[in-house]
Amino acid sequence: MNTFIATLPKAELHVHLIGTLEPRLFLKLAKRNNIQTAYSTLENIKSALQKFDSLDSFLDVYYQVAQVVQTEQDFYDITLAYLKKAAKQRVLHAEFFFEAQTYMQWGITFETIITGITDAIKDAYKKYGISAMPILCFLRNLSEEYALEVLKASLPFKDDIVAIGLASHEKDNPPSKFVGLFTQAKKHGYKLCAHAGEDVGPDYIWQAIKLLHVDRIDHGVRCLEDKDLVAYLQKTYLPLTVCPLSNMRLNIFNKKNYPILQLMNEDLNISINSDDPAFFGGYINENYAEAHKMDLSRDQLVQCARNSINSSFASLEQKERMIHKLEKWLQYH
Ligand SMILES: [Zn+2]
Repeated sequence: MNTFIATLPKAELHVHLIGTLEPRLFLKLAKRNNIQTAYSTLENIKSALQKFDSLDSFLDVYYQVAQVVQTEQDFYDITLAYLKKAAKQRVLHAEFFFEAQTYMQWGITFETIITGITDAIKDAYKKYGISAMPILCFLRNLSEEYALEVLKASLPFKDDIVAIGLASHEKDNPPSKFVGLFTQAKKHGYKLCAHAGEDVGPDYIWQAIKLLHVDRIDHGVRCLEDKDLVAYLQKTYLPLTVCPLSNMRLNIFNKKNYPILQLMNEDLNISINSDDPAFFGGYINENYAEAHKMDLSRDQLVQCARNSINSSFASLEQKERMIHKLEKWLQYH
């Protein structure tokens, strides 16, 4: 790895906890919980990771993998493993999604999930110096009514959760389906994020902006299809959390037409993130390296890192400390 990228101080804003579950930990959890899955060996898992070629076919594998995570200890282990890895890649601060609904459908309580996660966050800070905040991510293919139930279950723990998100099967599940959820979440003090402009074009990004009033758009790469939207994003500097390896692996774009340089040249507020690193062949630094290969200059990579810190939900004081670290690092690089 290019040492410039490897040591660049940065924040990660778009990563799913289950998307960080590496095959070895997956097998360990399957054994510990005595769960039979379609993937009983490393080879099975590796071949499954080769098979998907779209968002929908990827999600089929993703939910199979998620089954092995069941106890507070499991949530602790997977969170700690990700934060350790992120800290090694010079991530100072991470905001990651957890999809509580996946587990609650199987009878696991919200408390079990969030306790494992928050304990790991505290320990990761002590052990590796990385700060982290979880984002409660809703599954857009399920009903708004169920989402509201889960939002209610989260309220006793809301001080430990920074935001809500919206992910999963994008087609036919528009942001407009969740206006009530986002309105409620905002009332309870949550920040708001939504995946949009990945599998579906600018229309869903507009909906996320106008109907859900999001603080960040996850992906948003297809904004370039709409000039008015680009102008709006330039004016407001609304953050887009871009995930190059994910988009290419799921055939949203390919290496030849990936528009990261164009997004940057349009002066949009983009950050670089990993999405589901255990599935897409790379953590955050591999995504930075990919962006560099696609002609993002060193200055532009630094700008992405700066954007990631400024677009995070960390306190102003915490952001200033991180920017100071970035500036200090720049004196020597
Ligand atoms: Zn995502």
